[in-house]
Amino acid sequence: MLRVFLSDLHVHTCLSPCGDLEMSPRKITEEARRKGIAILGVCDHNSAENAPALLQAGLERGVVMIPGLEVTSREEVHILALFDRVEAAFALQQTVYDHLPGENDEEAFGLQVVVNALDEVTGFNSRLLIGATTLSLDRVVGFIHELEGLAIASHVDREAHGLIGQLGMIPEDLDLDALEVSPRTRLEGARARLPARIPLLTASDAHYLGDIGAATTKFLLQEGTVGEIRQALRGQNGRRLIH
Ligand SMILES: [Zn+2]
Ligand SMILES: [Zn+2]
Repeated sequence: MLRVFLSDLHVHTCLSPCGDLEMSPRKITEEARRKGIAILGVCDHNSAENAPALLQAGLERGVVMIPGLEVTSREEVHILALFDRVEAAFALQQTVYDHLPGENDEEAFGLQVVVNALDEVTGFNSRLLIGATTLSLDRVVGFIHELEGLAIASHVDREAHGLIGQLGMIPEDLDLDALEVSPRTRLEGARARLPARIPLLTASDAHYLGDIGAATTKFLLQEGTVGEIRQALRGQNGRRLIH
């Protein structure tokens, strides 16, 4: 049976250097549940290391956590990658790590905290997660699709690290599954300025607990999976976006 799933597909954790240290598995999950969010995308910059902890915390509290990454392409464009399997997220992470130069400067950018499902610190990531990979946009999207993930251009209405802000346009041949509009822009306003061929959704890009759910997307799905969301974006089998 199809039912409505409220989703926020773009949320950072304390692993992102710019993410608040309060963005821990338990706190994120509790905030999402309190706000009625059924599906939450875990998308740290260039890493999925906190995804297993979030998945576990979500299982315990009835929130579907989707493992993902927000990859920075060499053009400095942010692309969300969402997967059904954490193994796929880690496979993309490995490719990203192989193409991500530099080390984090904790003073300048912030701590990159790896945690378990009990909100306990298990380590610190030393890579320059805030940096750009040497992977082209095409290759990032290609890798995501090879791993059966969804490739969504992040915050296309934002100048910094948005597809249009960085490139001035949306390349015709870039095979994106959706465009994400940030909470600052109303979807109706954005739609007129964006190509009709690519579905639009909104998400919070939360870096702080209070921002979770600041923008959400409703889907009509049978269950909360990336496979179901893909069908909804394509309008297949009764699955759809509800605007
Ligand atoms: Zn971003
Ligand atoms: Zn983000």
